[in-house]
Amino acid sequence: MKEQIRVTVWNEYRHEKESPEIARIYPQGIHGTIAGFLNRQPDITARTATLDEPEHGLTDEVLAATDVLIWWGHMAHAQVSDAVVDKVQVRVLNGMGLIALHSAHFSKVFRRLMGTSCSLKWREIGERERLWVVLPGHPIVEGLGEYFEIPHCEMYGEYFDIPQPDELVFISWYQGGEVFRSGCCFYRGRGKVFYFAPGHETLPIYHQPEVQQVIINAVRWAAPVNVVGFRNMPEAPNVPQPLEEVIVQPD
Ligand code: ZN
Repeated sequence: MKEQIRVTVWNEYRHEKESPEIARIYPQGIHGTIAGFLNRQPDITARTATLDEPEHGLTDEVLAATDVLIWWGHMAHAQVSDAVVDKVQVRVLNGMGLIALHSAHFSKVFRRLMGTSCSLKWREIGERERLWVVLPGHPIVEGLGEYFEIPHCEMYGEYFDIPQPDELVFISWYQGGEVFRSGCCFYRGRGKVFYFAPGHETLPIYHQPEVQQVIINAVRWAAPVNVVGFRNMPEAPNVPQPLEEVIVQPD
């Protein structure tokens, strides 16, 4: 059997515990729903971790055994410890993939990896969103049409304060007139980061087949690439011996 992609689905898991309406949409939590459809893929093994577990469920052992980390957070970003953020950042620089979903645009881990405020506009009136594929050769759009729609969403609008994405995969149009860079790829060190906007907690968005397909595709895209013997970040080794003979000209 082909080697499995090991995914950890992290969720702050607060909305589902506090709101019966949200718990009805996600009885096992948002993390449970996402891990559920990922585990139906033959090449993916997903586990979950949540904020209230020791070390937020992201111990050194868990992070070392994670190829792709998925992050959903909203109301408790500030409660995520900086020590865990440091470790996630180093793991990404050393090849772990990160998929930041919806309100994770404001998570500490995503903002750390972007270096900008990651602020945006938002509105919650249940309008329609149409996600246009703008990079049709990209593996994250495998199996999709030229666009797909989410019947009711929370609007996230430009300007979105992120660095220019290395690859822009989706642009969303909203019924109210705004647009948004809703699927953005970034390379950080040896790691890959995908931001995907859909996923407001009061709407059944992670049950929608196209949204699930994007997340499954993103897991496969974000999985680490094995470069044999590559150095660990942030090591900066001195290499006094050049690969070729260097004849230094006298002044
Ligand atoms: Zn939201």
